[in-house]
Amino acid sequence: MSGADLAQGCVFCDALAEGRESPLVVYRGKTSYILLNLYPYNNGHLMIVPTRHVASLGETSVDERAELMELTRLAELVLGEAYRPHGMNVGINMGRAGGAGIVDHVHVHVVPRWEGDTNFMTSVGESRVLPESLEQTVERLKPVFARLAGGNLKAGAS
Ligand SMILES: [Zn+2]
Repeated sequence: MSGADLAQGCVFCDALAEGRESPLVVYRGKTSYILLNLYPYNNGHLMIVPTRHVASLGETSVDERAELMELTRLAELVLGEAYRPHGMNVGINMGRAGGAGIVDHVHVHVVPRWEGDTNFMTSVGESRVLPESLEQTVERLKPVFARLAGGNLKAGAS
């Protein structure tokens, strides 16, 4: 990956900066990586991000799109094992009007969901959101990624 593919001041590009990779990064693939959302909607809220600074799926290569979906699948498997959620949301917000917090670097959200958390956006001030710290989430998820990544990615590719 060349420096030209990264954009200065972009939180996703900065997360991979040489020598100070973000502690929120839980898995690195060839063209994409997975990191925790700094402001999670729920415990285990992950984002799958192409390493290259691209704003939309329209700008991604075939390889990048393929790995985005592989890593989305991996995130589903890891979160399923680590958190046993009742359901999940997988989605991409594009543009301010689409709800994107970071508009110029496309990313896929994977959010574990539990029965009764449906009003999570309004419950942040109450005690219903599980009080797991980001550090605890990283500790919980990294070993599961390490264990499931190789075999499942290979199985998915065959
Ligand atoms: Zn970027």
